[in-house]
Amino acid sequence: MTSKLRAAARCAGRVALAAALAVGLILAAAFNPQAIFAHHLRYGAYDVWSDRPIPAAAARAVLDDATRRMARSPLWSADQRFRVFICNDNWRLALYSYRFSGRMGGATDTLLTRNVFLRESDFATNRLIPPSRGRDMTDRPLSYYLAHEFTHVMESRAFGLVPAARYPHWLLEGYADYVGKAGRFDYAANLALLKAGAPELDWKTSGLYRVFHLETAYYLDRQGWTVGQLFARRPSEREALAAVLALPSGEGGERSETGGAVR
Ligand SMILES: [Zn+2]
Repeated sequence: MTSKLRAAARCAGRVALAAALAVGLILAAAFNPQAIFAHHLRYGAYDVWSDRPIPAAAARAVLDDATRRMARSPLWSADQRFRVFICNDNWRLALYSYRFSGRMGGATDTLLTRNVFLRESDFATNRLIPPSRGRDMTDRPLSYYLAHEFTHVMESRAFGLVPAARYPHWLLEGYADYVGKAGRFDYAANLALLKAGAPELDWKTSGLYRVFHLETAYYLDRQGWTVGQLFARRPSEREALAAVLALPSGEGGERSETGGAVR
């Protein structure tokens, strides 16, 4: 082997070692986020970690409200456990979501750990502090965000790891919004906004999942599909949007349950 080849081999070896170390560090961090969250509360089905002290009574009340929302879904069962990490320092959310941005409500790892990470939150007021201060959060308290992200955990338990690889985005987010809001959703008003082209119904610019909620509720409530049928048939986003837009204005009714039996 020439000296040049030996040098190239040494260099490749160092790169491989550095890559292996980086992967090892990422996996260690992914499986052990508790190491950098100093505060912990165990309550019912939940383990909550936070980088700030957790007010126990307020947190229990918020978790009870999250349970009330999730228990309406056939994907919920009393034996499931859920882990959430509250990232009051939003760099933790940026790190653990692997998106390197703290400008989101939360993120769920549906591949390795089923850990949920939420941005800065206040249990005492049942509030998640949004990235944009002027944002209307009235229909999305902290208990909504918990139920929403835990629904992604339930989706992955019911329908397989990394559901994003197999199911359309509108369905995963629409069902999480549907469960999270637990029936508090004005179908007719949101349908009218969608038909009028209102910016709140454009999820790409608003970051809101109301259009996906309309589509999910259309199949579960109007068509009477079970959650299992909806995920098995998984209509495309275009198909779901067309079905909702074909509804006469004022349609949709007030009923918004979280779906019948899974199968
Ligand atoms: Zn989501």
